[in-house]
Amino acid sequence: MRNAPTILHLDMDAFFASVEQASKPSLRGKAVVVGGLGPRGVVATASYEARVFGVHSAMPMAQARRLAPNAAYLVPRFGLYRSISEQVMALLRELSPLVEPLSLDEAFVDLEAGGTAWDEPSARLAGVKLRADIRAATGLTGSVGLAASKMLAKIASEEAKPDGLVLIEPGTERALLGPMSVRTLPGVGPATGDHLRRAGITTVDELAEAGEDELVRLVGKAHGHALYAMALAQDERPVVAERETKSVSVEDTYDVDIHDRIRVGLEVQRLADRCVRRLRGAGLSGRTIVLKVRRYDFSTLTRSETLRGPTDDPAVVREAASRLLDSVDTTGGVRLLGVGVSGLADYTQEDLFAQAAGVRADPAAEETVAEPVAEETPAERHWPSGHDVRHTEYGHGWVQGSGLGRVTVRFETPDSEPGRVRTFRVDDPDLERADPLPLVPAGEAGGERAADVRLEGAANGVGAAAGDVE
Ligand SMILES: [Mg+2]
Repeated sequence: MRNAPTILHLDMDAFFASVEQASKPSLRGKAVVVGGLGPRGVVATASYEARVFGVHSAMPMAQARRLAPNAAYLVPRFGLYRSISEQVMALLRELSPLVEPLSLDEAFVDLEAGGTAWDEPSARLAGVKLRADIRAATGLTGSVGLAASKMLAKIASEEAKPDGLVLIEPGTERALLGPMSVRTLPGVGPATGDHLRRAGITTVDELAEAGEDELVRLVGKAHGHALYAMALAQDERPVVAERETKSVSVEDTYDVDIHDRIRVGLEVQRLADRCVRRLRGAGLSGRTIVLKVRRYDFSTLTRSETLRGPTDDPAVVREAASRLLDSVDTTGGVRLLGVGVSGLADYTQEDLFAQAAGVRADPAAEETVAEPVAEETPAERHWPSGHDVRHTEYGHGWVQGSGLGRVTVRFETPDSEPGRVRTFRVDDPDLERADPLPLVPAGEAGGERAADVRLEGAANGVGAAAGDVE
């Protein structure tokens, strides 16, 4: 392990929800939940205001709605998140050629390899400057961890959240980790945590004291060795810029377009299983599940969902692919389907023991696949909550809800005051879908934004919560 804290881990704060709040002045300071709104939907990101109610990512959406009934529930706008992610990743690549993205909003950077930092002061300076640059370019906040290893850098950024920077000085790692919960370590999820607790081990110190042989006995050979090394704060994994195989995917083209929604669903399940077999065959696991659909008119859509940790569990991939399919209109027929896994990783799964024991770690994975999908009405499919629209008279806005032949739109933009709500018939010819507006207007990017002033304004801007009408 190096002796300077020159590995940086960046994690944007509540990324999807923060983008939504930056786009929609009326939601600033409010509980916002982004995720799948269908019957099997799960929370992708909850704003800090929603977390106060106990809502967290990967929670079933129905449970989130019970905990925070007045929160705004929005369908993800991945195109916008991706474009902001590209801005952030470009800033990281200015620091070093060795940037390892883990998801849209998270990455490791080897500052030493880029010549950006070589000791503690230079590393801290790079982190402070990066946070300021991200804020100026995107208007959003990200938290930074700095340490001598990837594991500690990630733990540091977690400690820094939200909107902070934590640097772990080399030599202090073990003292810092010792009293922390075993759950702090990568690969230790709820099931492993429970298993270790039953053996009397709750802290990292207790893990180290248990010794390698005991840990191998408790959680198996591969995980036992890894767990012991982590307990000693040993992590030699390098920051890797490009993985040899960036994704594993399979696809099928159909001679005759498939019209039947159930058949489309079954094909997606079959492709998911095939994709996982290939993934496992290569000894890989991944975090991002991708669905590709080419429709009768040759329009091709891709949808993706990023899990909390890498997986090679067929049930998890199947369910993620089904959720993605829920957001795609296949009414006219489908001529090609594909399922892929990207964001490939060396750690197999977030919860090592859960996988070893065949137990599901992800609560979302408990939902049954066989449950028939409640068909959305065409209106709800066409006007997803949170997505952008344009009205010939009232201008740019976003869908607050739809149902019963009506769509409710709030007219506001990233720069405006919190806007007014108006309701239209779903087939109103003056209303059309629109592209998202940039969070920081072109030309202003790089300048200071009066975000705090806007936050204050938002406090009295919203009457009813932006829940769905459906
Ligand atoms: Mg994040």
